[in-house]
Amino acid sequence: MNIIPLSQDKTPRVGNWRQDQYHESHTAMAKTDGSEMYGVLTGEANGIIVFDYDTKKEGENVGKVVDVDGTVYDLPKLLNIYGEDAYIVKTRSGGFHAYCVLDDRVKQWRNRAGIHGYLDIRAEGGYVVGGNSPGYEVVNGDINKLTPVPDEMYNLIHGLQREKRRNTSRGRAMKGGEQGNKVLVNILTNEGFSNVAFRWSTSPYNFDCDQIGGECPLCHKTHDNNKFFVYEGNPGELFVKNHSERCEAKLLASYDAVKLLFERDVCRINDSLIYPCEGDGEKAILRSKKDLVERYAEWFYKDEKDETKSFIYQWLVDIRKRQFTHMDYIPKDCPKDVYNLWSGYAVEDIDPKLGKQGEITPFLDLLEALTCGETEYALNYLTLLFKNPEIKPRTCLIFYGSEGTGKGRFTETLRVLMGNTVFFETNNAAEDIFGQFASAYDRTKLVVSNESESKTNFKNLSRFKSLITDETGLKVNRKYQNPYGITNLAGTIITTNEKVAVYLGQNDRRFVVYKTNPKYSNDQEFFKMYMDWLKCESNQRALYDFLISRDIQRVDWVRDRPLTSAYLDMRNSCLPQIVKWLEYFVVEDFKYRSHPDRSGTYAFKSAYLRQLYADYATGETRVTDASFGRMMKKMIEEHRIPDDCLRKDRNERGIVWFLNRELLFRWLRVMRFTDHEGELPAARQSDIAFQYDADM
Ligand SMILES: [Zn+2]
Repeated sequence: MNIIPLSQDKTPRVGNWRQDQYHESHTAMAKTDGSEMYGVLTGEANGIIVFDYDTKKEGENVGKVVDVDGTVYDLPKLLNIYGEDAYIVKTRSGGFHAYCVLDDRVKQWRNRAGIHGYLDIRAEGGYVVGGNSPGYEVVNGDINKLTPVPDEMYNLIHGLQREKRRNTSRGRAMKGGEQGNKVLVNILTNEGFSNVAFRWSTSPYNFDCDQIGGECPLCHKTHDNNKFFVYEGNPGELFVKNHSERCEAKLLASYDAVKLLFERDVCRINDSLIYPCEGDGEKAILRSKKDLVERYAEWFYKDEKDETKSFIYQWLVDIRKRQFTHMDYIPKDCPKDVYNLWSGYAVEDIDPKLGKQGEITPFLDLLEALTCGETEYALNYLTLLFKNPEIKPRTCLIFYGSEGTGKGRFTETLRVLMGNTVFFETNNAAEDIFGQFASAYDRTKLVVSNESESKTNFKNLSRFKSLITDETGLKVNRKYQNPYGITNLAGTIITTNEKVAVYLGQNDRRFVVYKTNPKYSNDQEFFKMYMDWLKCESNQRALYDFLISRDIQRVDWVRDRPLTSAYLDMRNSCLPQIVKWLEYFVVEDFKYRSHPDRSGTYAFKSAYLRQLYADYATGETRVTDASFGRMMKKMIEEHRIPDDCLRKDRNERGIVWFLNRELLFRWLRVMRFTDHEGELPAARQSDIAFQYDADM
């Protein structure tokens, strides 16, 4: 048995514990280093799978294992399910670990938590606290004599793992799909079964037939128990077997049987000649014909003469193959001839009943801190993502603040709810968002650009703007692959610790900037609680249900953006130098040459202002009277500065600017170009020597 040493809090005391080469040394360490707690590796490492029954942490059934329907799982109930010999460990909290043999039927299962609110699965790459650890107790059976996964559990979990596929709009041909069932019935009839019927939507692999109670077409014995079922072995292998242990499974190897499995994952797109290949919980891989042939080279079938033939070449010339005119990303109302690359959100697979038991306070608390109290727009944004996936959000949320404030926990939450296929996160925007083979917006609903840098964003400004805003025209250019066009429905979130992460123009209609509140900064206790909260499927579902229940019909996505002070700071930092100078001159360092008139308007010779500007904008190499004049003119036009604030005139001695300091200051306030409040500092008479002194 391969085991690992654990700390008191059940976390591994060694790294790399998933890797085969360390199993031996970690096992030795766990036995000798004095750790009382140890973990038993699940999955291939020990050939075991564990069903982990969790107790209720609160409510009337606290301390008991109870499902959504109120069924209590205690030891007698578990022995009923797993059999008298099952190896069962009682956990510290009063829950149970039921260990089973990892047989071919269940090898592909992944680790899952919170199934129906009480059940976790520990499979490949997982571990459970061992039965002889302090607080744990072996209450039945022997770990060296494990029993198989009972049908009841197999059907329960397998049904769940298949559910997602039946729900997709692609009409996947297998088990749940009517068409797939018809093919399967034919295949089984050819194997000697009669009156085959798949009747159970909860256990789609079981079938009814005339042979129950009679001679088995597979092993020619007589089985009186239960039913027959089909299951998948290694990729491309479909088996049929009676539930009796004495029955021998038979491989269904006809071309149609292999095709049934193959086409559940693969089809051809006729306009681009791309072959999308799907996998569980993965984004479809879009293959060329050459790659497809290589990938499925070891798939075989048996022809009528029982000769073994290569499958893929036969399929390529099969005129009745699964095919579509083209493909796109269409969350709602996908036309029949379009292969839909949209696969839904992960959280939609969780039973809505569970959501009623979940809570969402930790998320709201975190969001409140990250938005510094301005949560409304951010919540609306998330509602749009989850409630209307067919609509592209055309604005972008920026979270600005130092590390450790919880930005990562926030985006991790969205990843968990959305699932890996539709969520894209990168720390390398230059390559993943703007690069030649950038894939960030390809078949995603949310792009998160972490630690986003102004350098990269400024350089790619117009590309970034169109990725955030434009739905059409995303041309995807993948390495070694035919390019294809796809609808871009992704929202965009940026996290950054740079004050000016993107360029914000005066007419910006895209960005929302939140300065994160450091309330939870490096608060390990809060974040541990938060991640425990996030693990629970009932909480995930509750958050999803909360978001999609919100009404966003009246939201104006551009106008309703909160003008946070972080936003104004960022926007003002992006102002042209001439505007920044004007603000500085009016508010901080007002120096005049001659006294104002009665209305408070000062007259300045243009060359004088030009010199002040040149002193301020030291980065600009050469400011001539002409270029200064053009900048002033452009600024007045762009920002519609009223005449009585600032106006140009010409007299016999050249160009003169008339500037009313009080009015201009009020205007700067209205435009939020200045954050100065109260009285202006006193104006001073300029004492600099000036070449035009004689003139004015
Ligand atoms: Zn049999």
